[in-house]
Amino acid sequence: MKQKFDVGIIGAGLSGLTLGNSLLSKKIKNFILFEKEMSTKNDKTYSFWSGPGLFDIKKTFSVKLKKEWSQIEIKVKGESYKIDLGDYRYACYGSESVLSELYKRLAEKGIKVERGCSIKHVKKNQDDWEIEVKGKKILLKNIIDSRPNKKFDDKYPSLKQVFVGSEIISTKKVFDENVVTLMDFYNSKKNVIFTYILPFSKTKALVETTFFSYDINFKQVEKLHKLTLKKFDIKEITRTEKAVLPMSPYTNLKMENQYYKIGNFAGASRPASGYAFTRIALWANQIETKSEFSYEMINHKENYLTNWLDKIFLSVLRSNPQEAPEIFRIFFTKVPISSVIRFLSEQSRLIDYLVIILKLPKLVMLRGLINLYVK
Ligand SMILES: Cc1cc2nc3c(=O)[nH]c(=O)nc-3n(C[C@H](O)[C@H](O)[C@H](O)COP(=O)(O)OP(=O)(O)OC[C@H]3O[C@@H](n4cnc5c(N)ncnc54)[C@H](O)[C@@H]3O)c2cc1C
Repeated sequence: MKQKFDVGIIGAGLSGLTLGNSLLSKKIKNFILFEKEMSTKNDKTYSFWSGPGLFDIKKTFSVKLKKEWSQIEIKVKGESYKIDLGDYRYACYGSESVLSELYKRLAEKGIKVERGCSIKHVKKNQDDWEIEVKGKKILLKNIIDSRPNKKFDDKYPSLKQVFVGSEIISTKKVFDENVVTLMDFYNSKKNVIFTYILPFSKTKALVETTFFSYDINFKQVEKLHKLTLKKFDIKEITRTEKAVLPMSPYTNLKMENQYYKIGNFAGASRPASGYAFTRIALWANQIETKSEFSYEMINHKENYLTNWLDKIFLSVLRSNPQEAPEIFRIFFTKVPISSVIRFLSEQSRLIDYLVIILKLPKLVMLRGLINLYVK
C-alpha cells in the first residue's frame, strides 16, 4: 500500500521546518518532510535585528541566542564608523539550535521527517504527486519544495552573495567583543567586497569574507578569505560556513498543480541583502495569524516600496560597485539607525522610506534608477 499525505515538504531546512510548524498551528497534521542530510548541522549563523516595534523573532524560535550586540561599525578606507544601536540589538543564533528546536516541535506532534533522502524526481499522477523514498512510493496531494536552484538568475540588477566564514580562536585579544563589524570594505572596482566579524569574545569570532557580484566563484572568495584570516593570529579554526545566496528582485514563485516553491530561491531572500531569517519568521507569523489557511499564503508577499528601493540599490551595486562603501557608510551613519533597522527588517514606516531617499546620494541613486530601466 502506498502511503498518502496531504502535503510533502522537500527540504527540512529553515523554511521547510518553519512552515511545518506553521501548518501544525493551522491544525494541518497529515504531512511529511524529506531531508537530504542525516543530521542537523551547525553550519550557519542566523543574524537578525531586534528591538522596539520589530516583530519578536525570539518568540518564533525560542532558543538561546548565541550572542547579541548593541554597537556596530562600518569601515571605509581603514576609517571606522561606530554606530550605537540604542534600544536595538544585532543578534544571532546558531543554525543547529534553531533547526533542532523546530524538529523537536514536529516530532512531539508525530510529524515524520524522512532524513537522508535526496529527492531528485517528483512524478505527477492524475490526482496527486508521487515521490519514491528508500524504495517506498509516497503519494502527496501538495508538494512544497525548498530545494535551492542550481542556476542563478543573473538578469539585471540581480547579484549573488558569495561568502566564506571561519569561526576562529586567536592567540591574541584582537576583537572588540562589544562591536560587530558589519562591513569592512576592500577597495574594488569590480565587486563589492567586505569582511564581516561577529566577535563572541576578545579572542573568538566568526570572520567572513563576502562578495556581492554576478560572476564570482568560491575559489576567488576563498583565496581572499585566507589572506584576511592572516590578520588575526589564528590558534584554531573551530567551524566554517559558506554560502551562495541570491540577491534578486525576481522571485522564482511556482504555484501550479499543487506544487509550491519556497525558501531562499523563491522569495525568502531579501534582494538587497540576501538575508532570509527575518523574512521567514515574518512569513510564518502571517500564516499563523490568519484565521483560515489557504495554499496561496505559502507565497512570499513582497512589499512594493521595499522591493523597488532594493532594485535601485542592486542596480547601483551592480553598475557602480566602487561606490558601494560610501553609500553604505552614508546609509548607516546619516540615516537614523532606527529607520535603517526597520528598513532592513522589512518593517519600515513611510517616514523611514522618506528619510532613506532623502539621505542617500541623489546622483548615484538616480543613475541606479535609470540603469534599472535601460539595462
Ligand atoms: C552559511 C549561511 C549563513 C547565513 N546567514 C544568514 C544570516 O545571518 N541572516 C539571515 O537572515 N540569513 C542568513 N542566511 C540565509 C538564509 O537565512 C538561510 O539560507 C536559510 O537557511 C534559508 O532557508 P531555506 O529553507 O531556503 O534553505 P535551507 O535552510 O538551506 O534548507 C534547504 C534544505 O533542503 C535540503 N535539500 C537540498 N536538496 C535536497 C534534496 N534534493 N532532497 C531533500 N532535501 C534537500 C537541504 O539539505 C536543506 O536542509 C545564511 C545562509 C547561509 C548558507
